Order: sequence, then C-alpha cells, then structure tokens
Amino acid sequence: MNKQELEKIKQKALKEHIPIIMDDTLERVDKILTKLKPKKILEIGTAVGYSAMCFSEYLSQGGKIDTIERDEERISEAKENIKKVGVSEKINIYEGDAVEILPTLNDKYDMIFIDAAKGKYPFFLKEALRMLNENGVILADNILYKGYVMSDYNKHKQRTAVRNLREYISEVTNNPILETKILEVGDGLAITTKKKNNKLLKNA
Ligand code: SAH
Ligand code: MG
Repeated sequence: MNKQELEKIKQKALKEHIPIIMDDTLERVDKILTKLKPKKILEIGTAVGYSAMCFSEYLSQGGKIDTIERDEERISEAKENIKKVGVSEKINIYEGDAVEILPTLNDKYDMIFIDAAKGKYPFFLKEALRMLNENGVILADNILYKGYVMSDYNKHKQRTAVRNLREYISEVTNNPILETKILEVGDGLAITTKKKNNKLLKNA
C-alpha cells in the first residue's frame, strides 16, 4: 500500500471537511483489528475510502472489504483513491443507499463498521447482527454525536439522530447476548461483540 498517497488523501479530506475516521479512534481500532485478523469487513459509509483503506492493512490473507456509499461524487473519488493507494483488489464498493443494499447481502463478516446516516443506526444494527460472524465485532462511529447523545438538550435539527443513536446504545447494552464498550474517542465509538466472545473488549 502506498502510505504517502494515503496521507495526501487524508489531508485533502480533512481540508474539505469530509468526516473521516479520527486518529484516536483509529488507534483503538488498530488494537482490535490486530487481535481479530479479519477476513471479511463490511463498512457502511465509504466517503472517499479513507477508513476502508486504513482497515485493509489488517485483513488476513485473501481478505476483503465491502463498503457502501450513496453519494456519486464520493464514490468516484473513492474509486480513484483506492487505485492510487494500490488496494483495489481488497476493497469492493457497493453503490447506493445502504438501507436498500443491506437487506440484499448475505455474507458473514468479522468486523462491521457503521459510519453513515445516524438516523438509521438501529436499522444498520439489525442488519449487522444478522451478518456478524460468531467471533466478530461491530463498531459504530460517531455514537456520542458531539456530546448531544449524553446531554438532555438537543436542537430540533439533531433530535431524530440523537433519538436513534440512543436507541442503538440501548439495544447493544440491554440485549442479553451482546456486550458493549463505549469509548470517548473521536466522536464516540461503540464496540459490540457477542457476550461469549468478549475477549476482544478487554483491552480495547
Ligand atoms: N467511513 C469514512 C467516513 C464516512 S462519512 C471514513 O472514515 O473515511 C459518512 C458517509 O456515509 C458519507 O459519505 C455519506 O454520503 C454516506 N452515507 C450516509 N448515509 C448513507 C446511506 N443510507 N447509504 C449509503 N451511504 C450513506
Ligand atoms: Mg465517522
């Protein structure tokens, strides 16, 4: 992988205020993926491909990432970026709305990264649980949404997003077969595994 190109892509995305995964979040994901050695990753929300390219470093031999994006401009930029960095054979982009694409997928995944429309997180979770491998992990980025999720005052504009993020947290913490850790890194990261495989959460 061409790390220099990846760094350029990161800087351009930051300049253009594209909400790419933050460095401190990536540090925690590094620990998890190093232990997990995933063969298949599913990402919801590609943007320009930055996080997918970062994750591709941790794939085991022959591993693959499927990532979903609905914004046409971002899709074409992501495709160019992935080519430049030299990871085309590891990343497949599904083009379209994840709400429509997810129900058509039937693969199993070791890691599922939820990083798209906040109002859809409960739906994304349901689909992720259906496709999660027994030993897998679900990561939900932006789960604390600038602190709004844990505060009792929310502007009208954020209300639906906040309600749905709270619903997500409630489901992953109350479901008896799941175990979840919520980290205050980046914009908040929820890490969920099946309870019997919670070893991954220990040092996360
Ligand atoms: N994971 C990327 C950042 C993703 S930003 C990274 O860290 O580098 C969120 C992206 O999700 C945006 O590009 C947005 O267009 C896309 N998105 C939001 N809702 C979506 C949906 N329902 N289906 C597909 N893509 C969606
Ligand atoms: Mg994010």
